[in-house]
Amino acid sequence: MIQFEQVNKQYPNGYHALKNINAVIEQGEFVAIIGLSGAGKSTLLRCINRMHHITDGSLKVNDVEISELRGRQIRRLRRNIGMIFQSFNLVTRMSVIKNVLVAFVPEMPWWRKLLGIFTKEEKKQALMALDRVGILDKAFVRVDQLSGGQQQRVALARTLAQNPSIILADEPVASLDPVTAHQVMNDFKNINEQLNMTILINIHHVDLALAYASRVIGIRAGEIVFDGTAEEVNEQI
Ligand code: ADP
Ligand code: ADP
Repeated sequence: MIQFEQVNKQYPNGYHALKNINAVIEQGEFVAIIGLSGAGKSTLLRCINRMHHITDGSLKVNDVEISELRGRQIRRLRRNIGMIFQSFNLVTRMSVIKNVLVAFVPEMPWWRKLLGIFTKEEKKQALMALDRVGILDKAFVRVDQLSGGQQQRVALARTLAQNPSIILADEPVASLDPVTAHQVMNDFKNINEQLNMTILINIHHVDLALAYASRVIGIRAGEIVFDGTAEEVNEQI
């Protein structure tokens, strides 16, 4: 569960990016956050995994007040929260499976990653994650030989292998063509339904948000201006 109570976020330059945010997101919800560029969507997501720190209010993840977390506890929080970006953030010169492997055991000693020493169980988990997003056949291909949609699926598999309870996705389909964007949204939906992971996805395509997410939160100039089901949005339009 993610609980925002009167959350405000001001950047060091004084810009007030989030204003009195109140929302409760239950485990297993699939939420789309919509709003124009600059509305505060990305800031909102980044507060949840402590990439940003809130200025005041309360923000709890699974009943833990995350403002109070320090070093080790923040790393534990982040292991439980997968983050997906528009730009995939993959090592393009490495194979697909290696991208998944180096990410999903964050506490692995650096020399094991460097030497590429992974256990059988780790390899099995990585392959299962690739299978779930339909790119098992690309496991040993270099990432730079894949299309944008396939690369986003590698990013998704990498996050899945980490077995988080929450996935935050910041404009994951913004750079994809419409057909591929639908496929990737469908992957998110399947993962949400089959694995009961909470998914929060920033998206500026309202039609995609309505087609796949069960709940839509609208943000404008740092404030929540709408929070309801996709059906409720459809009725109002
Ligand atoms: P969105 O994801 O909806 O496009 P963002 O959360 O990225 O919006 O940004 C919200 C607002 O906060 C924007 O006006 C942006 O310019 C501002 N902003 C983002 N990051 C910073 C920062 N590090 N310092 C100051 N202002 C920022
Ligand atoms: P940004 O959101 O751009 O990272 P912040 O001012 O929120 O800028 O924070 C900068 C860094 O300092 C972040 O890594 C954040 O975790 C940490 N930080 C900021 N405020 C606090 C605070 N009150 N307590 C603990 N850590 C903080």
